[in-house]
Amino acid sequence: MNDLPNDIAHVLDALLSEDHPLRAQLPYLRIESGCTCGCTAYFTGPDTVTGAEIVAEATIGCDGEVLLFAEGGRLSWLEVCSWTDPKLTLSDAARHLLQEPGAPD
Ligand SMILES: [Zn+2]
Repeated sequence: MNDLPNDIAHVLDALLSEDHPLRAQLPYLRIESGCTCGCTAYFTGPDTVTGAEIVAEATIGCDGEVLLFAEGGRLSWLEVCSWTDPKLTLSDAARHLLQEPGAPD
């Protein structure tokens, strides 16, 4: 489908519902850069984002949440916020979201 790592693809798939308009961008999405600890993936480059807003979010149990940002209708970055130590990564978020019951197949 595309070059996204499995973790990221899973998280995006879980965050964006089947009929979400931004889903159409997923096949073309590329990771421009990321954070070394694995908590953030930038699709457009961190410098270009000025007015991004949250378009989807999900909690990761009691440990944190994962946020998807877009700017001007374009997906910009995906970030995990940790409420506890150790810090969560996007892989942790993917694992958690995959376990969520009732996910559409
Ligand atoms: Zn990080």
